[in-house]
Amino acid sequence: MNSTLQKTKQYLEEIKKNDQKGKKINAFIQINPNALEEAKNIDNKIKSRKAGKLAGYVIAVKSNINVKGLNTSCASLTLKNYISPYDATVIKKLKEQDAVIIGMTNCDEFACGSSGETSAFEPTKNPVALDLIPGGSSSGSAAAVAADFCDMALGSDTGGSIRNPASHCGVIGIKPSYGLVSRYGLIDLSMSLDQIGTITKNINDAVLLLNTISGKDENDPTTFESKKIELTKPKKIKIGIPKIKINNKQIQNLINNKVEQICKKLGWKITEIDIKHIDLAIKTYYPIVYTEFFSGTRRFDGRRYGKKIEDVAGPEVIRRILGGSEISKAEYKGRYYRTALKVKQLIKQEFEKAFKKIDCIILPTVPRLPHKIKNKISIQEMYSYDSLTVPANLAEICAISIPAGKINNIPVGMQIMCPHLAESKMLSIAKEFEGA
Ligand code: GLN
Repeated sequence: MNSTLQKTKQYLEEIKKNDQKGKKINAFIQINPNALEEAKNIDNKIKSRKAGKLAGYVIAVKSNINVKGLNTSCASLTLKNYISPYDATVIKKLKEQDAVIIGMTNCDEFACGSSGETSAFEPTKNPVALDLIPGGSSSGSAAAVAADFCDMALGSDTGGSIRNPASHCGVIGIKPSYGLVSRYGLIDLSMSLDQIGTITKNINDAVLLLNTISGKDENDPTTFESKKIELTKPKKIKIGIPKIKINNKQIQNLINNKVEQICKKLGWKITEIDIKHIDLAIKTYYPIVYTEFFSGTRRFDGRRYGKKIEDVAGPEVIRRILGGSEISKAEYKGRYYRTALKVKQLIKQEFEKAFKKIDCIILPTVPRLPHKIKNKISIQEMYSYDSLTVPANLAEICAISIPAGKINNIPVGMQIMCPHLAESKMLSIAKEFEGA
């Protein structure tokens, strides 16, 4: 077997060849200068049988998660030179289990975007189709896993930012249930919706990584003790297919065929379900995100960290700050933010109602194929990339995107949603699809 050191060296060479020199894929903003030394130490621990569960694994981290000594830039000029003084809880846990952190990945600026193009450091390219976007906002994390620059990666998902690029790049991405994973040390986009999650090449790695980073954390009051995630053989699964209109019929057919195949093979059942208000997801999501993002970014005033955000940020970030500031004015409070929170609650209840009759909901991850990099699309079109992923964040449930096939050689992801804290069931179902 390859040592951790050999493996890390190989990944670094691959990155040098295909990511940094000539900026072919541009998945990384910064490489960890100590990666080789850390790998060497871990090999010593393996030899003396003292190594943790992630020994031998090489992991990339999205640039909005604090890693001590590395540049947590959020792909923004605001934090371009910000060197993190501490580890986020998830990073502390990775290090305790002896993972090698290979570097900080590119993403949409402050995780605001669906394509990776709002990064202040040039967009990431889709490793499967270099002229296309890889999806966003965790563009670099998904691309790094797909391009084989690392074993796995961490991303963050507020409205789809892990699942959407996982879908376009043909890898596996999980948005965990709200509160399963500590957000301490994540630079938030919208604190009531954000979750840190995993991007991997297979389901077993996803289980390993998610088990490592989940659990109660004193520094994040929304977290709680959780049971270990375990794969079981799921029996008599009832799949709910939501009645929604997707313009791209090819995508819908691909997913439907996949579901029918597995049901035939395993004797699972399909039911059509109606989830009320799901069509309001995007309209509900943005007032919440704008308001919480505006509030969260007030600390980037140029005094303590880096530059003043309004002076250097790109148009999407500025749009959200201005929008959030408008919504936050006292006279509007009830009209937008509170109303959105009420609709969020209604959507959550609708999902709870649906899960009384079914085990999981299956639908495409993204309703359209990725566009060409730098092809201007409208804001509405950009926001619509997330219309099928946002509902899970509003409902606080878990959701995964797994590769379902290809259309014109472009990967298409299938999304499986399960109730809050039903990660074991969700991953066990996903495992059956992986093996099929
Ligand atoms: N694309 C969505 C947005 O721009 C989702 C972002 C995310 O999940 N971080 O807000």
